[in-house]
Amino acid sequence: MKLHLITIKEFQAKFPDDATCLAHLFAQEFPHPKCDECGKVGQFSQNTKRACFSCSCGQSHIYPKAGTIFEKSSTSLHDWFYAIFLMSVSRNGVASRELQRHIGVTLKTAWRMQVKIKEMMQELPPMMSGEVEADETYVGGKRKGRRGRGAAGKTVVFGKLERSTKRVSAAIVPNVKAMTLLPHFTDNVAKGTKLITDELKSYRKIAKIIDMEHDTVNHGAGQYVKDTIHTNTIENFWGQLKRSLDGTHHVISPKYLHLYVSEFAFRYNHRLVPVPMFDLLLSRVSYMKAQVERRIGAYRWTV
Ligand SMILES: [Zn+2]
Repeated sequence: MKLHLITIKEFQAKFPDDATCLAHLFAQEFPHPKCDECGKVGQFSQNTKRACFSCSCGQSHIYPKAGTIFEKSSTSLHDWFYAIFLMSVSRNGVASRELQRHIGVTLKTAWRMQVKIKEMMQELPPMMSGEVEADETYVGGKRKGRRGRGAAGKTVVFGKLERSTKRVSAAIVPNVKAMTLLPHFTDNVAKGTKLITDELKSYRKIAKIIDMEHDTVNHGAGQYVKDTIHTNTIENFWGQLKRSLDGTHHVISPKYLHLYVSEFAFRYNHRLVPVPMFDLLLSRVSYMKAQVERRIGAYRWTV
């Protein structure tokens, strides 16, 4: 897996302290800062007493943290940047305790920071076409349950993978009934897509309802690969997801599982994007900008 990363040396050289982090945030969020009082553009300089930038006229101030995930947080901006850095270079995610140790905050604070950073990794499912593998997996719980029904204590994660780009989308679903899964196909699978699944009846029903070409591999009969008819690519993704959950996080409440799943899908989908993940995450710290980006689909790219 090729990741575009920055090194800890590069991070430390670029962001040695709070002031450099704030300057970066200001430049990113206010590329052409205009003064509301004197009307001049670009006359702002960093205030030495407060976490803001002030116009040379002395009448107006811009607080770069406002409207971002850093707003209202008493944790230093440098600690935040470092947390984002750590989460961007990790392959499998960072446990709260690990983050706590690295930046010296309480476990509760580390957890809250992680939730904010994970939220930046949530993306709208990409539109898929060509050959698409669909499958579901069961996470958590102690007992092995029967598929579909009776998977006691387990959370169902449904996913799709577009073969040409190797992009995935994954979501927590209450069950694997056809009507439950149907919106995951009608909303973001293009017409003319070829669906590849195993023998679960729901997929057959869905392919019929939306009139989609459909190949199945019969796992129940011990069949796993039939030329290009297989679901190995998405199963490989499930395998990585589960190893990551087991290895890094041990226990995850079902309430937060969706955050881990979206984080993992994010890492998977962005592994080939030629932008360091750290820069990508930093660019999303503003709530408003993240919302707009989601709406216009600016997260999409072509491989
Ligand atoms: Zn001014």
